[in-house]
Amino acid sequence: MPQEKLLLIPGPSPVVPRILEALAWPTVSHVGPEMARDLQEACENLKRIVFSANGEPFIVAGAGTLAMEMALLNTAGPGDRVLVLSQGFFGDRMAQICQVFGLEHDVLASEWGRAVTPRQLDERLKAKNYNLVVCTHVDTATGACAPVEEYGRVLDKTGAIFVVDGVCATGGIAERMDAWGIDVVLTAAQKCLGTPPGLAILVFSETAMEKRRGLASVPAYYSDILRWLPIMHDPTKYFSTPCVNEIRAFAEATRIILEEGLDERFERHDLYAEAIRAGLTDLGFSFFTDPRFAASTLSVVRYPEGVEDKAFRAGLGGNGVVVAGGLGPAAGRVFRMGHMGNLTSAQVRFAVEAVEKTLAGLGRAVRPGTGRAAVDEILKA
Ligand code: PMP
Repeated sequence: MPQEKLLLIPGPSPVVPRILEALAWPTVSHVGPEMARDLQEACENLKRIVFSANGEPFIVAGAGTLAMEMALLNTAGPGDRVLVLSQGFFGDRMAQICQVFGLEHDVLASEWGRAVTPRQLDERLKAKNYNLVVCTHVDTATGACAPVEEYGRVLDKTGAIFVVDGVCATGGIAERMDAWGIDVVLTAAQKCLGTPPGLAILVFSETAMEKRRGLASVPAYYSDILRWLPIMHDPTKYFSTPCVNEIRAFAEATRIILEEGLDERFERHDLYAEAIRAGLTDLGFSFFTDPRFAASTLSVVRYPEGVEDKAFRAGLGGNGVVVAGGLGPAAGRVFRMGHMGNLTSAQVRFAVEAVEKTLAGLGRAVRPGTGRAAVDEILKA
């Protein structure tokens, strides 16, 4: 096996041996009993992960972008008006998807590093009616987390369908579909859920299902949830061959999440974010994201004066940790470090030590143990 580096990009996240082993189980029939059992268990577990009592889950081969398309195509049709709340790269992608499918839409955007506030949403909704409101829970380019629960409260009496892109949040940050009035959570396997990339994952509320049933048709075949619904209810039926191994590995991933406990898992994400940020702060770094909006699933980290992006990331890679560069206006000025999924405290410590070693290797004066001390302080609490 090639030597493994600690993968701390903002997804895919590191995959634990239990899930890798499940991925390597012998391929079984896509309509056989093993697959039926695992897909149904994955669907039930997924509903628990997004706190939906009566939602309809969809788990299909693809990625987050397919899930974005499926969410929009199955809830908006001709004559509907969509409001896209964008805090960066992936909100803008949502708007591009609306554009491609000819959906009437407006974008309400925040500055990079922040999110649209509930008050801004409220003001917009007073000025204009929308049938659908779409937001990105955590924008992976900016590290900003949207106040989804508060959006839900604002939307409560409007009757608009509320779609949340949870690709960088689901399973790491709470998404309480029923309590917050979310109609669709869309996500992907490779981030907080801890499975290798390869799945588009969605849960539709009863209201969202009604909306789909009310559309005469959708301009898609594979992405039409009504073609998938019979398979999700009875996986021994056929529509299009599901990715058997990936789905069984995802079922294992959902078991791991529920074994940990959802609240415990969300708290662990908060704790690791705090520890990593304390360690990096003591090493001289600062942060791109407005702290009021900082997500617990990744950090967008500004370099100290004189530390060059490419040299730093190459050095860090040499010390065993892979991080990502910045996107858009932050490119070259920041690196992005994911800290989501099934990460351990030992990996958090290893990552901060590797950053310290990298700075020393670049000739910076760092007192040995600086970052690690801050991390230990938080993790032991
Ligand atoms: N939404 C968000 C918030 C994302 O972070 C990503 C991927 N980084 C996507 C959508 C698109 O997912 P994918 O790359 O799996 O198509």
